[in-house]
Amino acid sequence: MEHSKIINDIEKVHEIIENDWNEQLLFLKALGSFKSTLGNEKGVQSFIQEHLDDMNLKTTSFDPDPKRLSSYKNFGHPEWSYEDRPVVVGEWESEGAKIGKSLILQGHIDVVSAEPEHLWDTDPYNPTIRDGKMYGRGICDMKSGVAAMIYAVNAIKKAGIELGADVQIQTVIEEECTGNGALALLDKGFVADAALITEPTELKLIKGQVGVLWVRIKVKGAGAHVERAERAQNAINKAVYLIQALDEYREYINNRPKHSYYTEHPHPLNVNVGVIKGGDWPSNVPSECTFEARVAFYPDQDPGDIQKELKEWILNAAKRDDWLKENPPEVTFYGFSAPGFTNSADVELFESISAAHKLTTDEEIETVAFTGTTDIRAFEEFGIPSTCYGPTGGNMHGPNEYIDLKSLKTATKTISAFILDWCKVRQ
Ligand SMILES: [Zn+2]
Repeated sequence: MEHSKIINDIEKVHEIIENDWNEQLLFLKALGSFKSTLGNEKGVQSFIQEHLDDMNLKTTSFDPDPKRLSSYKNFGHPEWSYEDRPVVVGEWESEGAKIGKSLILQGHIDVVSAEPEHLWDTDPYNPTIRDGKMYGRGICDMKSGVAAMIYAVNAIKKAGIELGADVQIQTVIEEECTGNGALALLDKGFVADAALITEPTELKLIKGQVGVLWVRIKVKGAGAHVERAERAQNAINKAVYLIQALDEYREYINNRPKHSYYTEHPHPLNVNVGVIKGGDWPSNVPSECTFEARVAFYPDQDPGDIQKELKEWILNAAKRDDWLKENPPEVTFYGFSAPGFTNSADVELFESISAAHKLTTDEEIETVAFTGTTDIRAFEEFGIPSTCYGPTGGNMHGPNEYIDLKSLKTATKTISAFILDWCKVRQ
């Protein structure tokens, strides 16, 4: 980055980012106004594709085909259709001999539900700016990152700079449930020398992440009218008993020796019961109750082994209950079956982003191990060095999710400087 020509280019690009800031905010607001929950991603993806077309990128979009993807280790098991749920890529092809390295900038546009919406101070799908923050579902995770990477590329184009290698902008679905969107683009051949996902990392670099799986536990009871309840078996009560067993499992896995990336973390492995369904009438004893949970595990553990261990744990707990012993719960897995990931070899990528961050903020970058999952694991499966870097926000997956706008501008500038350094600039 010491080369003065590139410093001039970076300054020029950063000035354009400043000048286009209001436009970037409007673009982010527009992204946030799409309720792009599972199954509803088409609108925002078409909007993005049109925007990339307008930037003169070569765009492609298609619906993922789970049959093509099922042999990848990062494949997640869907229970839904992929019709009209496209992934999008915009390619900026470099003309002439390659003098830098090619790059994928990737972001997911799927968001989790904003329910219960009455807990929000503002409409989750009408993004609102207050005190330097923009509020809305998905604004932090991660539509702001999508806006950042698009406006970083936009500024470089507007500056009239020709890059020395190809850049792709990829927007994907299902980061929040399977990771199959990211896999679909890689599987179709949209690869590069490195990938940056602009997840909201508080301007830090991700050097690793835990593995994540989803489990569904279906409990049977013996239903009856409540006045004969002593002969009935209440499925909700039995589910509560198994949820307690899951709490004990969480303590058990967090008390095991920690993975070296997580030794400083007091409680790195979360187990979360996110869904429970059972019963339909206060005076009925429910005959069925189903709950679903998200379970984390360390990067050096295999998802299949954890599924086995977890299933045994639940079935062993069931054996200690007279009813469940005879009527064991059904334990199944769907959605995430995501291995963890650690990153240490990709020194060049880290150095380039770190230098861009330093140049933009005048501060040294921090690296962190993440206690959730992101799509970087898909790039790892394809042998593509990757990490996450993006803005700072809060209340992800909860009410009043927001992004700090100052950090978003910083992230946009860092990303642009990184692109120039990584792909190199033609003289
Ligand atoms: Zn995310």
